[in-house]
Amino acid sequence: MTYIGRFAPSPTGPLHFGSLLAALASYLDARHHQGKWLVRIEDLDPPREIAGASTAILHCLENFGFTWDGEVIYQSKRHNFYRESLEQLITNQNAYYCNCSRQQLRQRSGSNLYDNYCREHLPAETNGCAIRCFVPAATNPVDAQFKDRIQGQQPAFCSEDFVLYRRDGFFAYQLAVVLDDAVQQISHIVRGSDLLDSTPKQLQLQRRLNLPIPAYAHIPVAGNLQGQKLSKQTFAQALDDEPVPQLLAALNFLGQQPPTDLADSNKEDILAWAIQHWQINQVPAQSTIIWQP
Ligand code: GLU
Repeated sequence: MTYIGRFAPSPTGPLHFGSLLAALASYLDARHHQGKWLVRIEDLDPPREIAGASTAILHCLENFGFTWDGEVIYQSKRHNFYRESLEQLITNQNAYYCNCSRQQLRQRSGSNLYDNYCREHLPAETNGCAIRCFVPAATNPVDAQFKDRIQGQQPAFCSEDFVLYRRDGFFAYQLAVVLDDAVQQISHIVRGSDLLDSTPKQLQLQRRLNLPIPAYAHIPVAGNLQGQKLSKQTFAQALDDEPVPQLLAALNFLGQQPPTDLADSNKEDILAWAIQHWQINQVPAQSTIIWQP
């Protein structure tokens, strides 16, 4: 088996403990299986991005002792590829233009879920339109679930024709992540459970495009005492310059049991121990775990 894993941060701020968990778990799983580990910067959404964050993220990964394979890929440089793929999806009737506003949708159906209106009423003008993935009614029960390596059986139900290209002119995460995971031949995806409900959409798109389906593993996310995920919005602290205690805290969070004397060693020894002893079945099958620094 060829294992290719990846870490795919969005440069919306510096790495924090929550992002360290995703980086570490994906890294250890890849290296434990003698696999490759790629880094991809998902800079698709300029309004949410912070100048200099990509460079800071890469420095921080280096400072924590991570080494990646090959060149770092930046999604902002791949627009032509996404555009060509979208055109292909439209030509093959796997996607269609939609100019419905949220307000129109609420007025029509009283819900935020898309009612497939533009499937039958194609907009006359494509400028300013979103592009949605055509999601057929589920017919095959085998496709109704997927098995997550940590969280177990999960619903693979896709509740609406989701957006691949946004009305504000940006490519959607769901499109870019699926295309890039395929091009980079990612075999295993390890990431935070906040993306668990994106997975059915990604499976759907992979099926529509006849792409191989990677194995998925969703780790618990770190939450604050209010149960909110650590993130820039909840003022998560940036990782500081002392990798050793933070790596050990992250390993404990992930259910690995580093020996206490590792606290006296360096980041290289900690990562070497963690690669050798990585046990994905020790990672708690929970979506959130409260974490206090
Ligand atoms: N770029 C996404 C994020 O930072 C992660 C994408 C993924 O791992 O699929 O939340």
